[in-house]
Amino acid sequence: MKTTIKCYIKTVMIASLILSGLAYAKPVTIDGVNYPEGRVPQEIKDNKYPRSYFPNTEKLGKKEMRITALGTGMPNQTPNNKAASFLVELGNGESFLFDLGTGSTDNLAGLQADYSSLDKVFASHLHTDHIGDLATLWIGGWVAGRYTPMHVYGPSGSTPELGTASMVEGLTKTWAWDVAGRTGVLPDAGGKIIAHEFDYKKTAVVYNENGVKVISFPAIHIIDGAVSYRLEWEGLSFVFGGDSYPNKWYLKEAKGADVAIHECFFTPEQWMKIAGFPYKNAYWVTSKIHTPPEAFGKVMSSIKPRLAVAYHYWNHRDIEFEIYAGVRKTYDGPLAMANDLTVINVTKEHIEVREVSVNHEAWGQGTSQAWDEAPRSDFADGAMSKFLLDGKVKGFVAPPKKQ
Ligand SMILES: [Zn+2]
Ligand SMILES: [Zn+2]
Repeated sequence: MKTTIKCYIKTVMIASLILSGLAYAKPVTIDGVNYPEGRVPQEIKDNKYPRSYFPNTEKLGKKEMRITALGTGMPNQTPNNKAASFLVELGNGESFLFDLGTGSTDNLAGLQADYSSLDKVFASHLHTDHIGDLATLWIGGWVAGRYTPMHVYGPSGSTPELGTASMVEGLTKTWAWDVAGRTGVLPDAGGKIIAHEFDYKKTAVVYNENGVKVISFPAIHIIDGAVSYRLEWEGLSFVFGGDSYPNKWYLKEAKGADVAIHECFFTPEQWMKIAGFPYKNAYWVTSKIHTPPEAFGKVMSSIKPRLAVAYHYWNHRDIEFEIYAGVRKTYDGPLAMANDLTVINVTKEHIEVREVSVNHEAWGQGTSQAWDEAPRSDFADGAMSKFLLDGKVKGFVAPPKKQ
């Protein structure tokens, strides 16, 4: 009976849209996942993946994980290397973002992602090349379809001011004008950002819902307050190493992981060459707070993952072969040198590594019916001073159509 009423309402809505001459894009929901209108994703059989991954054309298997590198580069960016971020999508429809470095949301947009499901970011530490695009996703994702709060999971620091909660509080103050101005047009809940700060010193479960566990563990990076993560789901394990000197916690938590991501930095000589740092400074950066290529290889030889993933270097041809050669001096196992938009499909039986093929003209999915119907405050009418309202030029804008 309920279905009949729903069908009737939908038919009336579509009919009135056609009659009014209006048409607007809405995502389509297939097996609980939103796709751009008109897209019908196909199931992948017998591990026969197309050579390129075209976003929204493939259905994830019920026990399959898809990892997409949204950024693999440095704080000093290059056009083909955004800063660190990895998206993990699961066959249960959930999505997780590990870091969200500056520029990485550009690549997210290229995926024509469903922003309503992108509400969880796990920060490894609070450098801009790891969390610099947080405000972009918080606000941009709200406009593009998220109607629930943005959740940010991240470590404490050695003082309260250096922790994730303080960073989020600061962000809320910084973008107060932005949020105030959009209130009413957009759903109220989507404008909220909630920090989940935890003790960086502890190895502990920081997220545990719908059969997905995320565990945080300490990392060694300049000052206190950096961590790495391990995600467990359906017997699969994904480990995301943020910036760190090789450390004992990573060796323990990433042992035998299905996919182990770890930073792979430069040697002092490489960093002098490309960044112009004097040796003393280059040595400190590359070899005291990061992991240069041969050390990355040693980490992977120790933990033996099903797939090792290296990132956090410039993927320029004149340097990436040197980085690769450094890794291969100490590690001869399965390896992906991640570029921006490298995509990795993982099941118990198979791991597929490809590149995403992005349409740079791609539109977003548009907002869903649920976003349209989510509760809102009144429009910000009346919030503007009479001084400005009196400056409006009459007759330039057509009056609204009579409904
Ligand atoms: Zn970094
Ligand atoms: Zn860092």
